[in-house]
Amino acid sequence: MSDRNSKSPEVVLGVLLDGKATSEKIKLQIADEAEAFTKQSGRKPHLVAILVGNDGGSETYVASKMRNCEKVGFKSSLYRYDTSVTEVELLAKIEEINQDDDVDGLIVQLPLPKHIDPEKVTETIDYKKDVDGFHPINLGRMMRNLPCFIPATPYGILLMLQAYQIDTTGKHCVVIGRSNIVGSPMSILMARNANPGNCTVTLTHSKTKDLKAQILKADIIIAAIGRKNFVTADMVKDGAIVIDVGINRETSTQTKSGYKLFGDVDFEHVAPKASYITPVPGGVGLMTIVGLLKNTLASARKEIYF
Ligand code: NAP
Repeated sequence: MSDRNSKSPEVVLGVLLDGKATSEKIKLQIADEAEAFTKQSGRKPHLVAILVGNDGGSETYVASKMRNCEKVGFKSSLYRYDTSVTEVELLAKIEEINQDDDVDGLIVQLPLPKHIDPEKVTETIDYKKDVDGFHPINLGRMMRNLPCFIPATPYGILLMLQAYQIDTTGKHCVVIGRSNIVGSPMSILMARNANPGNCTVTLTHSKTKDLKAQILKADIIIAAIGRKNFVTADMVKDGAIVIDVGINRETSTQTKSGYKLFGDVDFEHVAPKASYITPVPGGVGLMTIVGLLKNTLASARKEIYF
């Protein structure tokens, strides 16, 4: 990114927030800590994932989570169900895993088929094993700045900001998107009395009036909308820190996988204006896995709940 330049003297050259390098570095630390845990306890930290159906994106995400568990010395187990699974069957399996002392973390990959209530699923998972951090107890504790499992994607973003020693104090952070898993928790975390945090936060969504004017005020933009290249250069203040959460998949004949990923930010045109920016792929997605692994290790070590 160092060869990028700008005509405006005020523009700070953008630094790429490299999710690959940062996540690999943190995963080495996690692997060391997992090894020490295994030596001491005689068992590996254990993450269980439940996958319903065979949505392409979900398959990829779960496979990557399982692969990364193995990489850092965790045990991982995957339970797969056809979309015909009933809510009762799924909740019964969750209850069974809740009782299993060999399991430290349990995640149910979203989205779920329409006949299964995601709220019921989230609340059935034992909050002490809720390493995705979606359970209301974890969200409530997060809001009060108490020890908890922070949702994996917002946690990954905090770890990225920390890794680059970005001081967020006093900055104006505009979060775009208010989902329960990214936008809403992110807005709470950035406003908390903590570092990263201590921001003045504006949480925006599809009903926000004059969104561009809001985004233009941002020192930090966190985009979690799900629309390819939604944030364009004219919406971004010079020197802003830009975090792109979006993962928008398009079929492509140019890639081996048959699809290509795009972020919510028009990277090509926004990057020259940003002081820091995450790429897609290679940014927040990889840090999300790190957040999940850290939560699972913390659960195994009983750092949060006893
Ligand atoms: P989501 O549930 O899909 O919701 C999208 C949010 O964006 C909603 O709050 C919606 O507003 C808002 N929005 C939609 N159109 C808008 C517009 N024109 N102007 C302003 N706001 C608008 O959100 P999500 O699950 O957080 O996913 C967002 C993106 O992040 C997706 O691309 C997803 O794949 C990606 N993601 C990535 C990771 C990762 O690890 N990198 C993790 C999770 C999600 P309303 O509430 O008003 O409808």
